Amino acid sequence: MHDSPAALQAGSETWDVVIIGAGPAGSLAAVLLARAGQRVLLLERQKFPRAKVCGCCLNQRAQQLLQHADLLRGLQALQPVMTQQMNLHFNQQTLPISMPGGLAISRRAMDSWLAGEAVTAGATFLDECCAEVLPESCDADGAATTDLPEFRRVRILSPRGTSVATARVVLVCDGLGHSSLADIPGFSSRPQTGARIGLGAVLSAAESANWFLPGEILMAADTGGYCGAVRTEDGSVNLAAAVDSAAIPAAGGPRQCLQRIFAAAGVRVPEAMGSVQVRGTVPLTRRSTRLTGHRLLLLGDATGYVEPFTGEGMAWALTAATLAAPLARSGLVSGWSTVLQQQYERQLRDAVVREQTVCRMLSGILSRPWLLRLSFAAASMVPAAAGALVRRVNRVPISLERS
Ligand SMILES: Cc1cc2nc3c(=O)[nH]c(=O)nc-3n(C[C@H](O)[C@H](O)[C@H](O)COP(=O)(O)OP(=O)(O)OC[C@H]3O[C@@H](n4cnc5c(N)ncnc54)[C@H](O)[C@@H]3O)c2cc1C
Repeated sequence: MHDSPAALQAGSETWDVVIIGAGPAGSLAAVLLARAGQRVLLLERQKFPRAKVCGCCLNQRAQQLLQHADLLRGLQALQPVMTQQMNLHFNQQTLPISMPGGLAISRRAMDSWLAGEAVTAGATFLDECCAEVLPESCDADGAATTDLPEFRRVRILSPRGTSVATARVVLVCDGLGHSSLADIPGFSSRPQTGARIGLGAVLSAAESANWFLPGEILMAADTGGYCGAVRTEDGSVNLAAAVDSAAIPAAGGPRQCLQRIFAAAGVRVPEAMGSVQVRGTVPLTRRSTRLTGHRLLLLGDATGYVEPFTGEGMAWALTAATLAAPLARSGLVSGWSTVLQQQYERQLRDAVVREQTVCRMLSGILSRPWLLRLSFAAASMVPAAAGALVRRVNRVPISLERS
């Protein structure tokens, strides 16, 4: 995405906003701030395009937020698959749940496209650049200083060398565990005891031919975890799972763990599952001790994580970007204040944290075998109730409808 000298130079300049992480939160914030005329540097640790462990389902709330930013048409040009129904398999039984209006798109395609939109809007995007926020009282070499109240500094490590960028605002959008804040006192990200691990894999169209139709979300649940599968824009099948960490060694490895979940649920899998490469994540469910700091806002998974069930994570990340961009801009125009930080925390609580209650509840059900059995039986008797729950998770919060 960039040549070496330009990258090193960009990395040592002064920016209005430095954004760390080019997932949905970081790239949407970059689009919105660049469009508003700010000088934006978007940094990404990995080389793009890249895959990511994710279910790849965009719910209606995520689509509405992209529409709000005039980006939905661009996403549709990538030809995502429209999802209509989830078939939940458990204990050799199947519960169909109507879920119209979702989209399935690989993160490889979606994240590259959205970072490209940030560039089109005027942002500078550097991939293969791992960022670390430096403590407020440190200069570029890490020496103590107190003369930079108007700026934050970000160290950038890339294959081309190390540089230090200066920013008037830093948005931390680097996902689970927010590694870029490791050196900043008070910002820790603690996994919940017993938090599940994410697993992800992709089966090509040829490897997964005749498995299930495009438009279906196949969900297999077992006592050790659950795994979802969808067809994405190129016909391949994306697999994403949340599993108990103990279930992986018990099954003999991550791939065998996925196979075991499908077998227990009563789902036949393609032969290629026997050799598929599986990627993993750090423990999922976690909380961040702080969401804001001086000239610093956290967005998306960096703020904490609740196991998503029907495609909420990206919607929450896009929500945070929609809220943070105007506040960051106001901090640039009128000066930074703790009131601004409080405003962001309040808005995030109203639009995201409260909405996560339903997912916490679902995640609690999925991690307790007896409750899972009971809930599955109840939902089989009243399928409309399961659909209503999914619609509740998908809705756009009133606070965002008004913005
Ligand atoms: C198993 C599983 C299934 C899921 N299924 C779905 C689903 O179907 N639908 C849905 O909406 N959500 C789903 N999610 C959640 C979703 O993936 C996340 O909520 C979403 O990606 C969060 O977006 P983000 O922008 O906050 O972070 P991310 O998408 O994680 O992006 C963060 C980016 O920051 C980069 N980065 C990290 N550290 C640094 C650093 N120091 N410097 C520079 N860059 C850095 C990373 O490489 C990454 O590209 C799922 C998650 C899991 C684990």
